[in-house]
Amino acid sequence: MLEITNLQARVEGKAILKGIDLTVRPGEVHAIMGPNGSGKSTLAGVLAGREEYEVTGGAVRYLDQDLLELAPEERARAGLLLAFQYPVEIPGVSNVYFLKAALNALRKHRGEGELDAVEFLALVRGKLKTVQMAESFLRRSVNEGFSGGEKKRNEILQMALLEPCLAILDETDSGLDIDALKIVADGVNGLRSPERSFLVITHYQRLLDYIVPDFVHVLMNGRIVRSGGRELALELEEKGYGWLEAEVTVGA
Ligand code: ADP
Ligand code: MG
Ligand code: MG
Repeated sequence: MLEITNLQARVEGKAILKGIDLTVRPGEVHAIMGPNGSGKSTLAGVLAGREEYEVTGGAVRYLDQDLLELAPEERARAGLLLAFQYPVEIPGVSNVYFLKAALNALRKHRGEGELDAVEFLALVRGKLKTVQMAESFLRRSVNEGFSGGEKKRNEILQMALLEPCLAILDETDSGLDIDALKIVADGVNGLRSPERSFLVITHYQRLLDYIVPDFVHVLMNGRIVRSGGRELALELEEKGYGWLEAEVTVGA
């Protein structure tokens, strides 16, 4: 699915990613954890092709393609979806219009027929139930005036509609109360399948009580310093990140 080799990247001339290696196979859920500023969002942004990040070395293979050669919209069409840490607001564009346009663009690319308004509404109504969103949501402008929890649920709604091959969630848990967290986690769990992979980026382990990862990686200072199973997340919860920092410094 995804193979990252010695990936290095800069932001505003500053080296942030300093050699990332990571392999994600179909159906796997990988959690990326790490302290603030360690480069988690940079990794997500590089994979999505956001232009503020400059790749300075390494390679990324995605579904047998050179991911770094693809434009951001080509990556999206190839089934890579990044749920934004700070979702954009699009005043004047209704959520339903936005979602339908996004889905139909994808379907067209896949050679599937576009859905008309009636077909789309039937589909989206079913998905709304899974994220416990009211139908009135659809008529509001994209993310405008949405609460934190509503924005996150909207991300999961997008994900449920677009059915990505690789979904990247960047701090989808930040600012969520426990009920919203469970709805988001249920949404993600409902989308887990042998063909779909997830990269779940989170500072805290709380989300991983509900979305149980197959692998946990700790990103520190632009490098993955430790990988393990879900028990690594529990260890971090207990001890914080300090002990790893100390170990890495001694080992360096
Ligand atoms: P994390 O998501 O792990 O908190 P980030 O990837 O957001 O970390 O940031 C890593 C480092 O890159 C930080 O030192 C941050 O200040 C810097 N950085 C991130 N984005 C930008 C940007 N657009 N301009 C300048 N520096 C940035
Ligand atoms: Mg941060
Ligand atoms: Mg971040």
